[in-house]
Amino acid sequence: MSNIKRKKIVIAGGGTSGWLAAAALSKQLSSICEVVLVESDDIGTIGVGEATIPTVRVFHKLLGISEKEFVRETDATFKLGINFENWRVKDESYFHSFGKTGKDSYLAGFQHFWLYGREQGLAQLYGDYCFEFQCAAHDKFATSDKSKINYAYHLDAGKYARYLRKLSEQNKAKRIEGKIDSVNLDSASGNITSLTLESGETVEGDLFIDCTGFRALLIEETLKTGYEDWSHWLPCDRAWAVQTTLADKLPPYTRSIAHENGWQWRIPLQKRAGNGLVFSTKFMDEDTAKEKLMRSVEGEMTTEPRLIKFVTGRRKKVWNKNCVALGLSSGFIEPLESTSIHLFMTGIIRLLRLLPSNDISLANVNEYNQQTAAEIERVRDFIILHYHVNERDDSEFWRYLRKMDIPDSLQHRIDLFAQSANVFESEYDVFQIDSWVQVLLGQGVMPQHYHPSVKTMPVAELERFLTSYKQGVAAAVNKMPRHRDFVSQYS
Ligand SMILES: Cc1cc2nc3c(=O)[nH]c(=O)nc-3n(C[C@H](O)[C@H](O)[C@H](O)COP(=O)(O)OP(=O)(O)OC[C@H]3O[C@@H](n4cnc5c(N)ncnc54)[C@H](O)[C@@H]3O)c2cc1C
Repeated sequence: MSNIKRKKIVIAGGGTSGWLAAAALSKQLSSICEVVLVESDDIGTIGVGEATIPTVRVFHKLLGISEKEFVRETDATFKLGINFENWRVKDESYFHSFGKTGKDSYLAGFQHFWLYGREQGLAQLYGDYCFEFQCAAHDKFATSDKSKINYAYHLDAGKYARYLRKLSEQNKAKRIEGKIDSVNLDSASGNITSLTLESGETVEGDLFIDCTGFRALLIEETLKTGYEDWSHWLPCDRAWAVQTTLADKLPPYTRSIAHENGWQWRIPLQKRAGNGLVFSTKFMDEDTAKEKLMRSVEGEMTTEPRLIKFVTGRRKKVWNKNCVALGLSSGFIEPLESTSIHLFMTGIIRLLRLLPSNDISLANVNEYNQQTAAEIERVRDFIILHYHVNERDDSEFWRYLRKMDIPDSLQHRIDLFAQSANVFESEYDVFQIDSWVQVLLGQGVMPQHYHPSVKTMPVAELERFLTSYKQGVAAAVNKMPRHRDFVSQYS
């Protein structure tokens, strides 16, 4: 008989992050750990978080999720990227697709060939060479086991949490309903020993995961871990969110529409749309922002607009003592590139890999904190890029963003692309070269030079390559069904 004591992992909070953690930990560790989740129906969840990036599909594989079941249960639609409208200047847009654009050589990425082609008057729009972008532009989508199309989902956050709860409970995770009244510490080690609920019930554990959202009840209110504030780079600090009926179209992409003091999202689900207006109270008051959102939504509003307050930044240590912060309690970057759910998922995978065997090892904790910080800082840089490189002159908000100092790490990426069309991918980068190229070009960074090797390709051959690639993409898109038709028969 094994004499290994089963560890007890207690998850505080049952929003997207809490149930994602419960689903993954119960699936992977149920033979060695007991997983308990405490949540309060009275407090509820934040109820936003409806757009994802393609890595969500990898995480779903880990959970053994059937895509059809997921699409049915969460009202999901498919997402091929984001259409950025009015970002560089008003009345222009560009698309950040999840697909691969063109074809690289060993020495040079496709952007170098495209720049050479453009110089020769041969290359068309950058997005013409990307299958996913062209599918999005024509409202087309299909997938199958054999398909290589790269995509993510739009989903209903409430239904997603309920679906994940069902999966977790199938794997013997236990849910306790109740409001956490106090968090109890060991006086010698400072570790959390238990949570006391308003009912008087005490929930003891070995490891605690703080998924209590912006409240950060364990990691901050109790352990006073500290927060690194990034609002000087990302000054938006509020969002009004509202649900509406669906407009006529069901585009397979998120819309991100910049306005004078922030931006607005539109997320199409199967039966409704999610909308929100993100803004900075340094530049726009709450009432004006609410009115602006109500004036500009498409379809009928089916909920009252809800105000969400936030401060962009990261928890100084996401793992402190025997507490790991996941979800909004670990830090927040506005949903411009739909990165939060991805960060919850990588946080969970990292925890699974660095799970303590007996006592918590400081080296494990440091490794976890270092990796998490590196990852979120790279996301931060990518988001700042959208704001900083702009040519809008219609408000103080955009002028401030253009003039502000940015992190050296981002300045280097912009300089590198501007001077040589080069982009690199480093460890912990969430966004790959294709993403950086699309956003850099879309925001208006046009490289001065490209890789010398591309000029060894004769112009006639370059023309054949660009033309046949574009025609191949167009022909493949032609065969695809409409997104709406695919969704309705898929689930
Ligand atoms: C405006 C906005 C838009 C977003 N859009 C996206 C997006 O498009 N894509 C994306 O990936 N992410 C997005 N996010 C981020 C994120 O995905 C969501 O916010 C996420 O769904 C919520 O994360 P959570 O589980 O950490 O917190 P919450 O949903 O706030 O859940 C907190 C949980 O803790 C519980 N709780 C709190 N206090 C107590 C207590 N005392 N006792 C018991 N239980 C307690 C609550 O009941 C709840 O169950 C967005 C965030 C915001 C603010």
